[in-house]
Amino acid sequence: MTDASRAPRMLAAMAHPDDAEILIGGTLFHLKSLGWELGIMTMTSGDCGSQTHSRVEIISIRHAEAEAAAAFLGAWYGCAGLKDIEIFTNVDNLRKVVERMRNFDPDLVITHSPVDYMLDHEETSRLVRGAAFALAIPLYRTHRDEPAAATRATPALYYADPVEGIDPMGERVRPQFYVDISDTMEQKREMLKFHSSQREWLRAHHGIDEYLNRMTEWAEGYGRECGAAYAEGFRQHRGHGYPQEPILQEALKQFLVFSF
Ligand SMILES: [Zn+2]
Repeated sequence: MTDASRAPRMLAAMAHPDDAEILIGGTLFHLKSLGWELGIMTMTSGDCGSQTHSRVEIISIRHAEAEAAAAFLGAWYGCAGLKDIEIFTNVDNLRKVVERMRNFDPDLVITHSPVDYMLDHEETSRLVRGAAFALAIPLYRTHRDEPAAATRATPALYYADPVEGIDPMGERVRPQFYVDISDTMEQKREMLKFHSSQREWLRAHHGIDEYLNRMTEWAEGYGRECGAAYAEGFRQHRGHGYPQEPILQEALKQFLVFSF
């Protein structure tokens, strides 16, 4: 249940800078225009995302890109301080993720699909699932010097489509519902452009704007499945202990499509 005394709060908790834009960017702009407070949290600063820069350089570049992209959306941005390729569900990482998530205090969290093309995404999904459960447990401590307070309630948990919509065996992971993002597709593209270190690397490598083109093709593909020009797919975590109310579906009902 959301708290009626404040605007509802949605946190996109993803592995790397640019994942939120690519996977759920259109939906983020819908929520923004509906008055939601938005946050984007990444597990890492994208410290392996360069062929030319040092790790120190690319961390600073990508952190700045992620902050600028979040500012374009009008969202809070936080990084959990994990490392690329080394996102694992362990106690240290869980404490970092819980601390960051408590800082934002979300009513609703969207993370990666439990199955996805790389382990960083799958482990983020697992970490965020565990952290979401722990947020509102006062006796769960993160052992920081000045820890954030436990939240009022466990947030609703949703999963984005995996990258390209498929599991590691190449099978389509069917969403429970689609969000028609035709009206926000241009804003999604503009937001993704803030990640210029990734865009320029792919553009130099392929000779075409592969970064924006691939994201657009995926959104077109999901759109074809549900009869929209562009779409993003979602599933709700419905296990015991997590909110069961269809909060996201109700908020976005004017953009929702269920047919395949
Ligand atoms: Zn990623």
